[in-house]
Amino acid sequence: MSNNGDANGVHAHVSACAAADPPKSAQAASAPVLVVGAGPVGLAAAAWLAEYGVPVRIIDVADAPSPYSKAFAVWRRTMAALAPLVPPSRWAAAGTPLSRITMCDAGHALASVTLADADARGDHALPPGVLLGQAQTEALLTTALRERGVEVERGVRLSSFAADADGVDCLLERAAPADEAPPGGSAPAAAQQERVRASYLIGADGARSAVRRGLGDPFPGVTLSRRFLLADVEVDPPPGPAPAAAGAGLGRRELESGLWLGAMYLTTTSEGLLMVVPISPTACRVVLDGGKME
Ligand SMILES: Cc1cc2nc3c(=O)[nH]c(=O)nc-3n(C[C@H](O)[C@H](O)[C@H](O)COP(=O)(O)OP(=O)(O)OC[C@H]3O[C@@H](n4cnc5c(N)ncnc54)[C@H](O)[C@@H]3O)c2cc1C
Repeated sequence: MSNNGDANGVHAHVSACAAADPPKSAQAASAPVLVVGAGPVGLAAAAWLAEYGVPVRIIDVADAPSPYSKAFAVWRRTMAALAPLVPPSRWAAAGTPLSRITMCDAGHALASVTLADADARGDHALPPGVLLGQAQTEALLTTALRERGVEVERGVRLSSFAADADGVDCLLERAAPADEAPPGGSAPAAAQQERVRASYLIGADGARSAVRRGLGDPFPGVTLSRRFLLADVEVDPPPGPAPAAAGAGLGRRELESGLWLGAMYLTTTSEGLLMVVPISPTACRVVLDGGKME
């Protein structure tokens, strides 16, 4: 079984493997669901399972959470879907609500759209979006998981798996601690192996998913051959609070005279379309669409 999930504004591919029918035996029913990968998709999946009282384990080959900003916004629909796990106030506390998009031509502000009231679904408790780095999003989801009694098991890799009618046999590998290396030798200590019987296996293990590979699932889609330049940069002076009026600042040279928190800027440049988004009180995400790759 495979489907596409939408987490963190990301169209992410999730593969799940298990018996075609629900597990039959009592043993299979009490076996945990094994989630592979503690990115936003795996964390959200595991937290939902824990919320519903389903036994769940979640593993990640990485020793520590990724510190990188990567996806820089979470949109209202995602926050609404995750609301039972992450109360709206936590998003607001962790990031900056997105309130406007300002379109510029060569840095001159032409139009500014206020987003706060543009929601047709009437869920005004939530901002249209919150600007925050993916590391913060993952931290919020990790907290939601921990509050439901589940910890991410780090340094653990799914090595292989085999599904049958009742569930999935999984082989996990945990790198042995450095102090268990053979004395005097340069050979690394052998990985510790663990066999796990899971009722289901959820592959949330990213673009090079071992679960998808193991299932022989294709990764359909097309490659967009464009060159994007992306950087998160410290800015001086730091972004300031946005004025309340939507049209405030129109005509000024926005990108030179200071950036406003909660605003997303799109501007033409001689090199292509440039997006600038303050993602924290001191830093901006800068993305330049550098055109088609030759
Ligand atoms: C520089 C950069 C900028 C980005 N900007 C944006 C953006 O602006 N907007 C946007 O929507 N998206 C953006 N993305 C993409 C976004 O980060 C990903 O789409 C998102 O992380 C996918 O989430 P995921 O949970 O599916 O997988 P991942 O976040 O990739 O997590 C997969 C996890 O699985 C673990 N894993 C892999 N194999 C195994 C294994 N065999 N056993 C155990 N664990 C395993 C990995 O260690 C990893 O932690 C950006 C990405 C990068 C790199």
